[in-house]
Amino acid sequence: MTSPGAARLKELDREHHLHPFTDFKALGEEGSRIIVDAEGVYIQDADGHRILDGMAGLWCVNLGYGRQELVDAASEQLTQLPYYNNFFKTTHPPAVELAETLCRLAPAHMNRVFFTGSGSEANDTVLRMVRRYWALKGQPEKQWIIGRENGYHGSTVAGMSLGGMAPMHEQGGPCVPGITHIRQPYWFGEGRDQTPEAFGRACAEALEARIQELGSDKVAAFIAEPVQGAGGAIIPPDSYWPAIKEVLERHQILLVVDEVICGFGRLGEWFGSVHYDLKPDLMPIAKGLSSGYLPIGGVLVGDRVAETLIDEGGEFYHGFTYSGHPVCAAVALKNLELMQAEGVVERVRDDLGPYLATRWKSLESHPLIGEARSLGLIGALEIVADKDSGKRFDKSLAVGNLCRDICFETGLVMRSVGDTMVISPPLVISHDEIDELVRLAREALDETLRRLTAQGVEITAAEEADA
Ligand SMILES: *Cc1c(COP(=O)(O)O)cnc(C)c1O
Repeated sequence: MTSPGAARLKELDREHHLHPFTDFKALGEEGSRIIVDAEGVYIQDADGHRILDGMAGLWCVNLGYGRQELVDAASEQLTQLPYYNNFFKTTHPPAVELAETLCRLAPAHMNRVFFTGSGSEANDTVLRMVRRYWALKGQPEKQWIIGRENGYHGSTVAGMSLGGMAPMHEQGGPCVPGITHIRQPYWFGEGRDQTPEAFGRACAEALEARIQELGSDKVAAFIAEPVQGAGGAIIPPDSYWPAIKEVLERHQILLVVDEVICGFGRLGEWFGSVHYDLKPDLMPIAKGLSSGYLPIGGVLVGDRVAETLIDEGGEFYHGFTYSGHPVCAAVALKNLELMQAEGVVERVRDDLGPYLATRWKSLESHPLIGEARSLGLIGALEIVADKDSGKRFDKSLAVGNLCRDICFETGLVMRSVGDTMVISPPLVISHDEIDELVRLAREALDETLRRLTAQGVEITAAEEADA
């Protein structure tokens, strides 16, 4: 039941609030869901529904909701020193301590961090550092940055330009010049006519081909997420990253690994780069850095770039008022301390990741599911009209969104990316809660199937798939 307070909030929201990544008009007609409370892996809305948050907010509430230690860290820092900046040769203890902790947790060759307020700002910083680096190396013509179609690197102009989300480019363009995109390693969506291994190598060959087209003396960097998040939890074939690394090394091109989602334990290591044995030059971070309790991001910088910027760069004309904000930094520091003390990352690797993998895979038996994949605590379900061929439903049916809305009613937050359903739960989820998540997902799929069947939508037979 909607309380009078909630009804009023919904009305005011409709009148005054433009939501991010939202069809304003459609939301105005439907009204929004107001989240008022949360504990552990559950959120609660103003109508009193308790919902299992299978997305950890937006891929960020890694330690779960209601952690008093993080609240205390914020309140103590607010009392001590609510704000000071890191410009003009000043700093403060939380920024310094967070920098040291991050560099200790990062791969050995990464010993510097530049703080930002978000993941998008981190990628703006990346763009500037990459081009600055090559200018200082005496190769200012090395300007091109290669990203990937359907990659996500944020929503500022630089972030959306580095990303490969076509709808964002159409609305936000013209994009920053000197950025180009190659195909994504999305085997289920684009590569099933080959083995995953052959497809992974073909994607790396696309990188080689693009470098040849542009001229390797003109290419500055390649940017990618270890596992694409917003694009649909796309886990690359095992052959992909080794082949990509080989191409980049041969052409002396910087590697930027966007760890905004994969960083801080999501894949069962502190960074996705560790899981895939990448040696990135730059790693943008955000989200799980503070478990989402306060906004903070940054760029971890490898030695070869850092040393050049430091020794030869002079003043770097870049930074944000809230770069390394003391309260955000104090919360991030406490978050990392808790993760270490509680062995959160190791538990994802050794226990929760493998447990989710077997339970999640069981959903592949559902009539609507063409593939159920996961790695660590990120997972995806591919909804298809035909299990054998992988044929999709007509786009106009928006089956993914239908399933997402049903999930909410069922008591689960699961995100849809087209007809791909995605989860990324808090890293503190228990076995019982994983069981519940999988049960709720199956219920929602059953209900989706029921509604499609009731509408007369055909769940196509295998032999009709090529038609
Ligand atoms: C969310 C995200 C960003 C952008 O971070 P914001 O804090 O929303 O600006 C960048 N890269 C990746 C991989 C992300 O998932």
